[in-house]
Amino acid sequence: MESIAPALLRWYDQNKRVLPFRTVSTPYRVWVSEIMLQQTRVAAALPYFERFMQALPTVKDLAECPQKTLDKLWEGLGYYSRARNLQKAAQKVMAEYGGVLPSQVKELVKLPGIGPYTAGAIASISFGEPVPAVDGNVLRVASRLFLDTGDVTRPDVRSRLTKAIHAMQPPDRPGDYNQALMELGALVCVPGGPPLCQACPLAHQCAALAAGRQTQVPVKAAPKARRTQDWTVVLAVADGAVLLNQRPAEGLLAGLWQPVLLPGHVDEAAVTAALQKLGLRAQPPQPLCKAKHVFSHLEWHMTGYLVPVAPAAAPAGHVWADRAMLDGVYAVPGAFRAFRQVLKKCL
Ligand code: SF4
Repeated sequence: MESIAPALLRWYDQNKRVLPFRTVSTPYRVWVSEIMLQQTRVAAALPYFERFMQALPTVKDLAECPQKTLDKLWEGLGYYSRARNLQKAAQKVMAEYGGVLPSQVKELVKLPGIGPYTAGAIASISFGEPVPAVDGNVLRVASRLFLDTGDVTRPDVRSRLTKAIHAMQPPDRPGDYNQALMELGALVCVPGGPPLCQACPLAHQCAALAAGRQTQVPVKAAPKARRTQDWTVVLAVADGAVLLNQRPAEGLLAGLWQPVLLPGHVDEAAVTAALQKLGLRAQPPQPLCKAKHVFSHLEWHMTGYLVPVAPAAAPAGHVWADRAMLDGVYAVPGAFRAFRQVLKKCL
């Protein structure tokens, strides 16, 4: 196949989205944007990116940021281990690299949270290293372009597609080439339906289009079924504040804050008893609507109660959080979004 680079780069120069980490493209900004975009759509990540950069404009600021502030900046983005790893990596950059992000893939992958894709993206975009950066968008484009019907979740298939794409990377614009492939996957060779082949700069080279099989690739093994867990969310409120406790320091949503959470779907009597155990005198619990939150491997099915309680000191391990503290201090995971809406009305 003749190189795809000339047509692809021409298309990219004319069609790339104006994004803040492209407009001002420092290695630090590219790094943070790549981490944010790992599990999050561009439109959803942009306000977070702007806020993050205003609060923590340098690697040093990130390394020294109190954890509570960092969690708050990340609140709602999900996959909070990304933020923790980002900070651990910033601390390592300060301690071992004089505060300057390393420029090569072989050094970047030594930093927490940076795998081959992110390292390739930073090294090629910010430092011009001629390395690949193959994410889900690029895999989709490549599997269609070469009509490769291998399962793209398999390492050997990913590796062969990466090699094929890398072989056509122009040495003078490696970062733009990588970004152009990602952009093509995001805007034209889209997932979840027919791609927009009539707008594709690679249409005359595309094997899937020639065979009329664009929607049959990429091939992916069916994901494993998610486990489900049932929880009861208890919004215990007194004096314009809700009772929160901090999740364990390890595991799912580590260190974030949550309302009282009881395992299973329990009734009013069990809710009242649980609050009594915490030393709180509860009025009759008012049932709330059900809510569901989907993690990558797990689904939470939640019922909830709003429970006015008599004002009292916060039980051990808990805090009372008023509206301002909920907005500005305590990071509550997006899993509780439906219940935050209830609190907005009653705090
Ligand atoms: S021609 Fe269609 S299927 Fe092929 S790379 Fe372009 S958008 Fe994707």
